[in-house]
Order: sequence, then structure tokens, then C-alpha cells
Amino acid sequence: MTNSANPDNTLEMLVQQALEAARHSYSPYSHFRVGAALQLSNGSVVTGANVENVSYGLTICAESAAVARAVAEFGPSIRIRAVAVANLNDAPSPPCGACRQILSEFTAPDAPVAFPAVEGPRTLLLGDLLPETFSLARRD
Ligand code: ZN
Repeated sequence: MTNSANPDNTLEMLVQQALEAARHSYSPYSHFRVGAALQLSNGSVVTGANVENVSYGLTICAESAAVARAVAEFGPSIRIRAVAVANLNDAPSPPCGACRQILSEFTAPDAPVAFPAVEGPRTLLLGDLLPETFSLARRD
């Protein structure tokens, strides 16, 4: 069975790729090593890792790094089908609020987002993680 025929298999593959990406994390301050993997509608998988900064506030999350990398590689029309976040610290790491908004720019509300939660591995739809997304869509 191919990954595309089995969403759970695709998510598990994405989680493994997110874990691999976390190995590239630049996190000398917190040592919290996070990776993200995005399944794009064109079939590609793009990963990112968190990039900390001595100022702390300028730290770039793995999810945001992956989105920026996907746009840089494939252009502004990318669409994200599924997201996985993982870390090497055996800790919960759901996407932060800023990353939920950044993901929503390219991701439908019904796309799955897998992440380590307090209770263990969890998958929620982006629309459940970020209801009432800020959007310029208008009511007619
Ligand atoms: Zn974030």
C-alpha cells in the first residue's frame, strides 16, 4: 500500500521526517530540538527545524521555517495537505499560536496536524487547532 492511499501511514512517515529534521535544530539556549514536516499537494515533503537566537524573541519555530522553505522551493501557490511536528526532547510540542496562523495561510482547515501532546501523540485538524482564523475572506 502506498503512503498516499493511507493517511495514517502518511502521517507516521511525516512524523519520522519531522524527527529527522529536529536533528538539524539550532537550539543552543533551550536545547529543545524541534522538527516539522509538511506534506504538500504536489506530493513533496518539506521539513524545517527550529532556529534559536540569542535574543530569544527572534527564534524561528520549526513549523514556520518549514513553511518558508516550502515557499522558497516551490513558490507562492503551495498548499499543505498534512503537518507533523516532533521533538527530540520527549516533550509536548503542539504548534504555537503564531505557527498555527502561519500554517493557515497555506493549509485547509481540514488538514491533519500531528504533534506530541501532554497525553502522547495526537492529531487534530488545523481548523480545530485554530478556529476563527484571521482571514481577509469576505462575507457576501
Ligand atoms: Zn511556532
